[in-house]
Amino acid sequence: KLIVFEGVEGCGKTSQMQLCQEWLQNLGISVVITREPGGTELGLDLRRLLLEKADNKPIAEVTELLLYAADRAQHVEQELKPHLAQGKYILCDRYIESTIAYQGYGRQLNMSLIEQLNYIATGGLLSDLTIWLDVDVEIGLSRKRGGEAALDRIEQETIAFHQRVQQGYAALAAADPERIIPIDGTLSKEIVHQTIQQVLRDRLSW
Ligand code: C5P
Ligand code: MG
Repeated sequence: KLIVFEGVEGCGKTSQMQLCQEWLQNLGISVVITREPGGTELGLDLRRLLLEKADNKPIAEVTELLLYAADRAQHVEQELKPHLAQGKYILCDRYIESTIAYQGYGRQLNMSLIEQLNYIATGGLLSDLTIWLDVDVEIGLSRKRGGEAALDRIEQETIAFHQRVQQGYAALAAADPERIIPIDGTLSKEIVHQTIQQVLRDRLSW
């Protein structure tokens, strides 16, 4: 099963994925945790290129789109397909929904081009379930600003950009409510985790 975690900056994906991994492992389920961009060795190089603060090294919007697609193509071939073939559970931090939300809604690039690229990169592999941690953009960004790490290139985008990304996630969840499940990410870590457990039990019929 491919279970994807999505959401705007500071939505809590990282900690929720860790809790979910521990929970599944305690149930005796074999779990792999991975992410985009950066789920492969090549992908780590692409991630660095994509996210470092690059004042003097602009990245054109279409270039950015292609680099995310390249990262994904490698990730699908090298990590996702082999682990799925072994019957493993994969928890994946971001997938095609990120490209629709960030490059489609955020950058406002051509949506049919994005869909074609997503298809080329994945061969049509969709998540079995996508958990959208729904957190207000301002709340998410303030969590990031309060953290240790310096803001990356995308985190430094305007509020308007991040609001469009958020609208993208809302539209995706509305269009595919069986597969893309919104969860209120402003609640406590423990409550969010319990809600995710419930969704997984229901949807994947355990
Ligand atoms: O979630 P994480 O912070 O690891 O994601 C890396 C960054 O890549 C995020 O800041 C996100 O804004 C950006 N990103 C993007 N477009 C994608 C996927 C990720 O802008 N398709
Ligand atoms: Mg980030």
